[in-house]
Amino acid sequence: MNTSPGTPANSVFFQAATDEQPVEQRMPLDRVEFRTVIEDAPVMLWLTDATGKIVFTNTRWKNFVGSDSFAVHGDNVWIEALHPDDRSRVFADFETAFRAHRPFQMEYRLKRWDSEWRHVMDTGEPYLSPEGAFAGFIGSSTDITEHKRFEEELKRSHADLTRHNRDMGWINQLNSYLQACRTLQETYPVIRHFAGQIFPTSPGTLYLFNETKSLLENVVTWGAPERADALVLSPDDCWALRQGKLHEVDASNRALSCQHAGEGAVRNYVCVPVAAQGEIVGLLHLHVEGADGPQTFDDHPIEHASLLRLVSVTADSLGLSIVSLKLREALESQSVRDPLTGLYNRRHMEESLDREFARAHRTHSSLGVIMLDLDHFKRLNDEYGHDAGDFVLRETAQRLRDALRGSDIACRYGGEEFVLILPDASPAEVLKKAESIRLAIGDQSFLYQSKPLPDISASLGIASLCDGYEDTDEMLRAADGALYAAKRSGRNKVAVADV
Ligand code: GH3
Ligand code: MG
Ligand code: MG
Repeated sequence: MNTSPGTPANSVFFQAATDEQPVEQRMPLDRVEFRTVIEDAPVMLWLTDATGKIVFTNTRWKNFVGSDSFAVHGDNVWIEALHPDDRSRVFADFETAFRAHRPFQMEYRLKRWDSEWRHVMDTGEPYLSPEGAFAGFIGSSTDITEHKRFEEELKRSHADLTRHNRDMGWINQLNSYLQACRTLQETYPVIRHFAGQIFPTSPGTLYLFNETKSLLENVVTWGAPERADALVLSPDDCWALRQGKLHEVDASNRALSCQHAGEGAVRNYVCVPVAAQGEIVGLLHLHVEGADGPQTFDDHPIEHASLLRLVSVTADSLGLSIVSLKLREALESQSVRDPLTGLYNRRHMEESLDREFARAHRTHSSLGVIMLDLDHFKRLNDEYGHDAGDFVLRETAQRLRDALRGSDIACRYGGEEFVLILPDASPAEVLKKAESIRLAIGDQSFLYQSKPLPDISASLGIASLCDGYEDTDEMLRAADGALYAAKRSGRNKVAVADV
């Protein structure tokens, strides 16, 4: 007999088989020894008779369900330990396998000795009697709970990853569109669209600070919140804005609801400041309601954590774009606006006049130009000071803005001179507009630092394109000439250029 090196010479288990040995001689176990092996095998084993009744379970199996349970339920212990929700399915599968005498595999939950539900995988094989008739099934049971848990975790991380990739895809697209926006106004429909994709189950609102930074205005809303979000809010109404960091409210901290979320609000939400380069420019406000109504964020910690990450990334993206667009708008405005009055500057007026002049020529439409100069302004400056003069200039600019249409262009030409461009206005309309402006300026009485200022008046000169000017210089000179005529004829007058 050949014995492998290092194996006990007298061991029946480690004898190496030789080709000459018939199979029966290679398994010298008698029935008693075989039973011991099965009984002590480190796997759960069971045996049924031909009717499906369990006639044998080994020690491993008995230990799994627990000896107490065995003592109480005897042969019924397997049925008793089966999870009630799995019973009918398992019985049906078992029956099918028995009818067909076919091997089977099935999963179910089984109550362990410590009352914990464990996932078990059964594998059964039919076996035959010495006469060759079907005698029942022999099978093993394996506790696959850990395996299942791992599988589920894997599934969840895969789902997380897929969702994360999808979200990042939306964020990238949002960034790309935001970078292509030229004005803040243009970003609003872009943000509305992508916020709806990024937060499909969380309706919300983007608030931005107004120019004076006193209030935040609701500029974009997405989804369909049950209650409309406030149209404006004060920075003091929001804990996130007050603290400069994310603030969230659920059933566990309802008392910390923000003022803007509404009196006695019973909804879950997240507020996160929108900021960049250390400046808070707005607020993202998201409704986070589970399908079953209010609950705590702890109910779905993983989903909530990923939502918070997403809210922060989105707020960062919005912050960067909004800050840079605001800067761009400010720079653009500085390059075309007069800082004292906020009206367009002379350079912008000249460009606009060139454009409107060409357009009026091309389309055979009319175009009016009004040149306006405040009367005796030097005297006002001398008597009341330069600051009082500045104040009157700002007030006059406001009267001009009030008097004009959206398509009209008002500019500060220099000192206390203004030019107004009125596209598509007939000479009669221009004259009417000039008269109303003269009256609006003359009617106002100013108080500056509690002191009344003297009456202010203006002289205005008009030129209209129908008069057939060669170019804009000629047209402006004509309006200037008319203004001079108005001054000469006593000031506080409107004069029309000679054709
Ligand atoms: P007239 O009725 O003939 O137009 O008399 P006027 O005094 O208004 O005429 P003039 O053009 O001689 O004076 C314009 C004054 O406007 C001179 C200057 O001190 C003043 N001025 C120009 N720019 C500014 C400004 O930015 N602020 C203030 N406060 N005054 C300005
Ligand atoms: Mg003047
Ligand atoms: Mg002047």
